[in-house]
Amino acid sequence: MQETGSGIEDRAANELTALENAGLRRNLRTLAASCGSQVEWRGHLLLNFSSNDYLGLSASDELKTAMTEAVARYGVGSGASRLVCGNHPAHEELEATLAAFKGTEAALTFSSGYATALGTIPALCGTGDILILDKLCHASLIDAAKLSGATIRVFPHNHLEKLERLLTGAREVGDAKKRVLIVTESIFSMDGDAAPLPEIVELKEKYDAWLLVDEAHAVGVLGPQGRGLIAALGLEKRVELQMGTLSKALGVSGGYLAARRSVIDLLINKARSLIYSTAPPPALAWTASESIKLVQSAVGDGLREKLMVNKQGLLALLGDKMRTDLPAAIMPIMIGDESAAMRTSAALLEAGYLIPAIRYPTVARGAARLRLTLSAAHETRQIEGLVASLLNLVPQLSRGKKNPLEKTAE
Ligand SMILES: *Cc1c(COP(=O)(O)O)cnc(C)c1O
Repeated sequence: MQETGSGIEDRAANELTALENAGLRRNLRTLAASCGSQVEWRGHLLLNFSSNDYLGLSASDELKTAMTEAVARYGVGSGASRLVCGNHPAHEELEATLAAFKGTEAALTFSSGYATALGTIPALCGTGDILILDKLCHASLIDAAKLSGATIRVFPHNHLEKLERLLTGAREVGDAKKRVLIVTESIFSMDGDAAPLPEIVELKEKYDAWLLVDEAHAVGVLGPQGRGLIAALGLEKRVELQMGTLSKALGVSGGYLAARRSVIDLLINKARSLIYSTAPPPALAWTASESIKLVQSAVGDGLREKLMVNKQGLLALLGDKMRTDLPAAIMPIMIGDESAAMRTSAALLEAGYLIPAIRYPTVARGAARLRLTLSAAHETRQIEGLVASLLNLVPQLSRGKKNPLEKTAE
């Protein structure tokens, strides 16, 4: 007799086999947090060069204390969505802190950066409108664009001429009331490079479009007091929608959108990922406020300085083999082939370094890479050890003058 739902198991097994055969199967790895930049995996201590915790704040003593005290005061959950009865002074305080941090009138927080994109873009654009995305935009932005029902146009990564052609096209067809929204990131999550924001701002003003910039990997790391790349360029008043996450350099969890008050009020009415989802715990919101204050303080300046010292240390040893124009903490090592990337990542793991291979569909097919990220929590000798292992184990880096034998072995 056929068991109920037995078809689903065959289907799942077949799809998993196909992924396995293509070298694309993913599995969860359970890492016990150790301290700072170290993690524990199957009884081995690994140095973590893959986290987005760029300042090491997820393990900060100040923030641990702040969160513990906030849990004692506010409890562990919020009880309901923000619009029902889950809105707490800690949420309001966080949003005021964020707005001041980002130089906007107001801000709205969500349970994650992903939820921020999914709530924001469809609330502002829909059928008949046009979204213009950089080809390398994060999945959350792409999913949000699809969900909105707007027409989607994509320009090659950071390609200003193509962007201008799409803007011209968008303004030629249809009525003047149609909204055109450009979506990009300030620092790209898998490539680590920056968008040409001043030029994009000029273009969006010329063509009367709006601009959303996702600062997930810039906030905390770049700009005065860690305010991000938009602030570093003095563009706070010219970017309509500043998006970001509390989950990376800020070390906590959640996402935000900073904008004009009227935009935020509209999102409170229309962003479905805000309306139909339980508010994040007030203790978490409280901790995020404390994190933003810490990031803006002299402590934050010190951590950013340490991060940049670590990066200079890496580049001093590998500079002729790495891109040296990446402004933030993401330093990818391009491999290409998916299986080769997996093998190299496994060899590094064996040597005690956690640097995952990033593959399709996160990046394009044949563009697999090791996504190396640096943190203020790394120590100088850890960077030196990493470089030695990279030169030994990554054929793409060991090629060249310093290792002629490796070259002939290829
Ligand atoms: C990580 C990330 C997000 C999602 O943020 P979460 O808080 O992790 O959900 C959105 N955009 C970019 C560019 C990211 O890298």
